[in-house]
Amino acid sequence: LKHESVALVVGVTGIVGNSLAEILPLPDTPGGPWKVYGVACRPRPPWDANHSVEYIQCDISDPEETESRLSRLKDVTHIFYVTWGRGSTAAEICDTNCKMFKNVMNCIITNAPKLQHICLQTGTNHYHVSFDFFGTVSHDTPFSEDLPRLDAPKFYYKLEDILFEVVGKIEGLTWSVHRPGTIFGFSPSSMMNIICTLCVYAAICKHEGAVLRFPGTKEAWSLYSQASDSDLIAEQQIWAAVDPYAKNEAFNCSNGDIFKWKHFWKVLAQQFEVECGEFEAGERLTLVELMKDKGRVWDEIVKENNLMPTKLEDIGAWWFVDRIIGVEYPLDTMNKSKEHGFLGFRNSKSSFISWINKLKYSKIVP
Ligand code: NDP
Repeated sequence: LKHESVALVVGVTGIVGNSLAEILPLPDTPGGPWKVYGVACRPRPPWDANHSVEYIQCDISDPEETESRLSRLKDVTHIFYVTWGRGSTAAEICDTNCKMFKNVMNCIITNAPKLQHICLQTGTNHYHVSFDFFGTVSHDTPFSEDLPRLDAPKFYYKLEDILFEVVGKIEGLTWSVHRPGTIFGFSPSSMMNIICTLCVYAAICKHEGAVLRFPGTKEAWSLYSQASDSDLIAEQQIWAAVDPYAKNEAFNCSNGDIFKWKHFWKVLAQQFEVECGEFEAGERLTLVELMKDKGRVWDEIVKENNLMPTKLEDIGAWWFVDRIIGVEYPLDTMNKSKEHGFLGFRNSKSSFISWINKLKYSKIVP
């Protein structure tokens, strides 16, 4: 089989990486047939094993390891950069992420002469920065791509600047930046998977015979929210990689509808057959607090239901969900993406239910 395009998915076991790994190898994917290399840091998880991807275990924060494992990938035509690294301060996060991105760029640019396009995934936080101690700096909503950068230390800005520098050096090389909001998707390896986290919370409530309390704020409960389906983000990235009208632009990526958590909370309760809670006034509940001693309970649930072995601290991103359901969700607009020719959308409720079902079917949650 002669491959038309060769993808390097950096972060292949992540929430969008998993969707790219599933969609790119399909016979009717635009730009195909695709050959796919996928990079992640840890050994290949069992739920990823069926994807038609050449899996490469490599810590991209290490320049020598990156060079030794990725320099042989001379046929890469497209990079999908869907990863990030943690840190304990904003400066550390920035430093780590710049190094990771530069390591991959340096290696592929010098070794893959057929490279055509780089997709960089960042997020809605491009327009909105929340500091634990200093409050929030934000543009007014709905966010559009032409808004200027905020005066804030965001690693997203640094990554874009590295991208522009790299692309500027090589004639014909193009880029796109993708800015999703809260992502609905599958990956149990993701550092931020709201659906997986909520499923684990609901399963623990069910196991303990407890009500599914809503640990968020009134704003999140009763005002509009948005989500970004991981398959939709993958489709937008593939479109941008292939379509000439999408080159050298940044695009928001959300489902194209709105929802309220007070309605989705009922859906979650139904899926796990637990009693649905309501918004509770008074002191803010948090998942970090509610779930802090539940490691043993989760181990029991895993054993009783014959689930794929996971640890609560790896699978429940409590801090992340506390943040998402702790604010009035900042909405964005998909106008630019549509005007450039990407008309994809998702029904957020169907998306919510289908990822819950996939997590159950894959034996990640009961
Ligand atoms: P995930 O946390 O879902 O996935 C990260 C992927 O990168 C995994 O495959 C992970 O593999 C891999 N990885 C992490 N560190 C390394 C490393 N040092 N070397 C090699 N591979 C590594 O990523 P997201 O898709 O969530 O994040 C990508 C971008 O999207 C980030 O900028 C994020 O802020 C943004 N975003 C995410 C949202 C969300 O809801 N998740 C919402 C909006 C924006 P392994 O597990 O093996 O380390």
